[in-house]
Order: sequence, then C-alpha cells, then structure tokens
Amino acid sequence: MSPSNKPGDLAGAISDVAAPKTIPAWASIRESRRSSAAVAGASGRPGLSGLAIGALLEWLQGNGQPAFRAKQIRDSVWRHNAATADELRGLPAALQHAVGEAFRVDTIEDDEVTVSDGGLTEKTLHRLAGGALVESVLMHYPARGYDGGGRALHRERHTLCISSQAGCAVGCPFCATGELGFGRDLSTAEIVDQVRHAARRLAPTGRHLTNVVFMGMGEPLLNLDRVLESVAILADPLQFGLGARHVVVSTSGVVPGIRRLTALGPQFTLAISLHAARDPLRDVLVPLNRRWPVAEVVAAARDHARVTGRRVSFEYVMISGVNDTDVDADALARLLHGDLAHVNLIPMNPVAHTPWQASSPERVAAFAARVRHNGIGVTIRANRGQDAGAACGQLAANRAGEPPAPTVAHRREVIIRASEAALRGERSGEALSESLEAAVKPRSVRR
Ligand code: SAH
Ligand code: SF4
Repeated sequence: MSPSNKPGDLAGAISDVAAPKTIPAWASIRESRRSSAAVAGASGRPGLSGLAIGALLEWLQGNGQPAFRAKQIRDSVWRHNAATADELRGLPAALQHAVGEAFRVDTIEDDEVTVSDGGLTEKTLHRLAGGALVESVLMHYPARGYDGGGRALHRERHTLCISSQAGCAVGCPFCATGELGFGRDLSTAEIVDQVRHAARRLAPTGRHLTNVVFMGMGEPLLNLDRVLESVAILADPLQFGLGARHVVVSTSGVVPGIRRLTALGPQFTLAISLHAARDPLRDVLVPLNRRWPVAEVVAAARDHARVTGRRVSFEYVMISGVNDTDVDADALARLLHGDLAHVNLIPMNPVAHTPWQASSPERVAAFAARVRHNGIGVTIRANRGQDAGAACGQLAANRAGEPPAPTVAHRREVIIRASEAALRGERSGEALSESLEAAVKPRSVRR
C-alpha cells in the first residue's frame, strides 16, 4: 500500500502525489508502483482537496498566515469547486500565488465528456499528472412514483461513479479496466477531485450529487488508505458533506480489506462483486478468487453485515452461458442463504476482446426468479451508457489503442479455455499475475 497522509503531516501529504504512468491496453503492467519513491509525482505538489486540515494549518503557519485562511481555502475548494489558485476567494493575491506554488488546486483534467441515454449518463475521461487516464460516470435518475399530493415517492438522484486506481491488477476477463492491467493508485486528491468536477458540472442547474459509488476503474480495497481518506472528506460537513450512507464501495473480494473495514465500523455501504458462487468459475471471472475463495469472501461479508448492522450487496454480472444457468442460480442461493444480503444482477456491458455476450433479458429474469424463490432479495439493474462505452475502463482502453491482433486472439483463446475448464468444474491451477500478487501482499491492506 502506498503511504498516505497522517493528519498534520505535510511530508506525507506531499508524497500523496502519484507517479505518472500511461497504460498501454495491450501490455498488462506487471510491476507494482506502490513504494513511496514511486509515488513521488512529476510536479511534487500535493493536491489541495486531499490535504488533511492539520497539514494545511501547518503550511499556513509556516508561511506566517492566520488559521482562518484554512476555512476560506476549504470553502473555495468545497463550496465553490475552485479549479485554480486565483479562484480561492477572499485570499490576498500573494497568498493565492503561494498556495498555487505549493499545491495543485485541481489534480485532474477533463479530457473528454461523452453524453448518452438522452442526457441521463455523462461519462468523463480524466487525465492525471503524468498522463494516466481514469473515468468517472455521472448518472441522473429522475424523480418517480408520485403520491396523491404530487410529491415524488422517489426523489431525483445524481450518482457519480468514481475510480480509485488507474487500471486494475485483478484482471477480470469481462472488464475493460482488467484488460489494461495496473497503472497506479490514485491519490486522495485525485479521487475527490472527480467528485468536485461532477459537482461543478451540476452547479449551474442547481442540482447536487446525492450518491457516490466507487465502481469505476480500480480495486478500492487495494488503495484502501486513500479510499478511506476520500470517504472521510466526502462525509465531512465542512468539506463535501455527503452522508456515509450515500457512499458505496465495491470490491472484488479483498478479504483482509473487508475485515479491516469491519473493525473500523460502518464507513459506507459495502458491495461485493461476486459474479459466480462456485470456486472453479469464480477463479476465472474474478482471479482474486484464487487467493481468497468465495466462501471466505462471503464469510467476511457476513461478519461485516452482522457487526455493522449494514446490509451488504452482491453484484453479479450476467454472462450468457457462462454464469447464468439454473445451476448457478441455485449455487448463489445456497451460498447466501440466511444472510443480510441483496443481489444486484447486471447484464454484462459489451466490451472489446472478450468472447462473451450479455445474458438475454429472459435469462436474467428467470435467474432472478430462481434466486428470489430461495428467499434472497434480487434487483435487476439496467445498464447505463452502452452507446457511450460505459463499461468500466472502456474509454481509457479505447484511448490506449487497439492491441496487436495476435494478442487479442490469444487473450480470447485463454479466456475460452479457462471458462470451459471451469464449467467442467476444474479449479484454475494458474498462479496470480505478478502485479496482482504484489498488490495483495498483506502490507497492501494493513497500516
Ligand atoms: N474493482 C471493484 C470496483 C470497480 S468495478 C469491483 O470489481 O467491485 C465495479 C463493478 O463493475 C464491478 O461489480 C464489476 O464487476 C463491474 N463491471 C466490470 N466490467 C463490467 C462489464 N463489462 N459489464 C458489467 N459490469 C461490469
Ligand atoms: Fe478490477 Fe473490478 Fe475490473 Fe475486476 S471488475 S478488473 S476488480 S475494476
């Protein structure tokens, strides 16, 4: 795990600037970039929005400034979504200049915005220092279900899906980010600046973000310190002020990370990407399963729900003929029997370079009925932004360019071979990739 800011530690804050890296889609990045030397950024300036209050106060004091400037700076960052130093309101020009020299007021650039679903989905490709690309998706859900008095039973929502890493080491074969491989962890400021960008987009229309979900690029529990810092900033009424209940963090099953969250108590809603209830198949769909088998993941989730009193949701991407059979539905129901759990079924978003298709709506409905029949709550989720390449990591993958044809053909062949073996019930004997092995070392999830 890369180092993160201790409150009041400016040096820690400075090391929070991550290393530049552009990810070639066709070359999975094997090497981990988690050492503090590796995360010393090109510019060396920490992002202002991720700075602990103690670090900001210390910097102000060191520059002979009164403490009340901290509130002015925070208000500019969080109430007015300042993007440049001269947008820091109420500060003398010399102080604006000094802040701009010491910190980056904004750590991400919007490289491309793609609007789809008739304006309901806005996907942004962000460029980070050093050139790495990550995505966030803003989804609008209009109010629905009005009562006799004309009041909406379900208020309108504006949900932002954000990234925690550039690329991902886990390598799920249906995921565009997984194909990219691991690039680098995002800094705390890079994570929360995605939220500030979305808030800035909404502001002119008087709308506000209502939910933030860590379901973009990357495995949040492999960048857990920074994700926790980001969630604390988002929840802080003096900063973003979003209730922790409105934040969801999704994980592919980093068991020590889940256990650490359980010990911390409820911070946000936890979602587990399950995708298969049987180990042989999950070994292929979520390669992390070879390290933490599905029963361990579900046991950790069960303990989390029991200790925190918060329901855990399970995500299940539906892939035609692979994990959508009646046998899979029954295995899923058996696995979650008696749990405080809810399953979200998501038809697979089409991504390049997989040999698979989404399950048909009829199959998804039949699967849902079978699981529900066993007493488990199920919701069928609609896919958003298919016309805009909404699958996680797809825009970044498109930008990284088309891999050589033999690489694509080889990847397809490996996926087909592995899934056929899994469907025969054979567990994968394949070792985890080096980058995943490095990412899941115990130090990655403990502090
Ligand atoms: N790494 C974390 C969070 C980011 S992925 C995780 O895996 O949970 C967020 C969600 O998007 C996961 O549930 C993931 O399985 C899903 N996803 C990835 N690729 C997808 C695709 N092609 N179609 C539908 N869902 C996809
Ligand atoms: Fe990583 Fe999540 Fe994509 Fe799997 S689904 S490769 S864990 S981002």
